[in-house]
Amino acid sequence: MTIDLRSDTVTTPDERMRAAMAGAVVGDDVLDHDPTMRDLEEAIAELLGVPAALWVPSGSMGNLIALMLHLSRGDRFLAATGSHVLVNELGTASWLAGGAPSELAWDLAPGQFSVESLRAAVGGAQPYHGLRTTLLSLENTHNASGGTVTPPDRHAELVAAAREAGLRVHLDGARLWNASVALGLPPAALTVGADTVQVCLSKGLGAPVGSMVAGSTEFVQEARRVRKMLGGGVRQGGILAAAGLVALEQIDSLAVDHRNATLLADGLAELGWAVTPPQTNIVIAKVPDLAETLAQLQRIGVLAGPMSGYVRFVTHRDVSADDIKEVLARLDKE
Ligand SMILES: *Cc1c(COP(=O)(O)O)cnc(C)c1O
Repeated sequence: MTIDLRSDTVTTPDERMRAAMAGAVVGDDVLDHDPTMRDLEEAIAELLGVPAALWVPSGSMGNLIALMLHLSRGDRFLAATGSHVLVNELGTASWLAGGAPSELAWDLAPGQFSVESLRAAVGGAQPYHGLRTTLLSLENTHNASGGTVTPPDRHAELVAAAREAGLRVHLDGARLWNASVALGLPPAALTVGADTVQVCLSKGLGAPVGSMVAGSTEFVQEARRVRKMLGGGVRQGGILAAAGLVALEQIDSLAVDHRNATLLADGLAELGWAVTPPQTNIVIAKVPDLAETLAQLQRIGVLAGPMSGYVRFVTHRDVSADDIKEVLARLDKE
């Protein structure tokens, strides 16, 4: 049996989720408002501690909508090295939202930059030919660094420094749920002060499709227009929103994925791998030859992926502790 640890996006909807989708009450979400979409949007706004939220087909679209509304053409925006908005969205932050991206190096810890480097990056008053910096885009957990968590005090410090420098703040919370579970804090504790937040339903929570972008009521009104412009206005979206509502009931079970990630990391370390201890559900390991290791894993029926020069394993609801033990047993036999 192949054990797929490439991403938590490989999760498939279970029977309960499929039943909820089949039974969803629906309307036309473009003409008026699909009632199940509305339920999901209200539930998300409450969870994130913001006034309003909007369903979008993907996290990339959620981030793009936020960046389009925050940035004017030529505005500079800041994000940590390796951020999804910088490297995994086909350059749409520049191409479609018109922003000039600028990376903040991980000077504090993997995936984490300091307030000092944020302040230094913004700089003082610019000459007329200098770029205007208008946005900070945060990512929690930070994917490319191995699912690292930004705790609420550091988040607050960064938001305060951004505000002081006159920046708006977007939070890419594709895996904010994982940060929330790892810290034992409600998701709303991790969004404080952000203008906009994007969260994914289709990763570890198991929905087949869907993300949410959230913020003020005015932001969401505009976001609905931009979503339509980008082709993301769906009709009987309640079928998809019903999956999202079930997904939200599964947040606590991410703790199992985190335990499995630790189980995997400990086992790999025992086998001599150079692994970084995981904070959430992502395990990264440095290997001498990335392509060779991925091919070797594939030969023994274990799928992993490349991430910033590391092998990346992602645990999720469709792999059990026994599956992880099986991965380790197969590697031990090599
Ligand atoms: C997955 C992910 C997204 C959005 O991905 P989609 O595949 O477009 O849904 C955004 N940010 C981060 C950090 C992610 O990991």
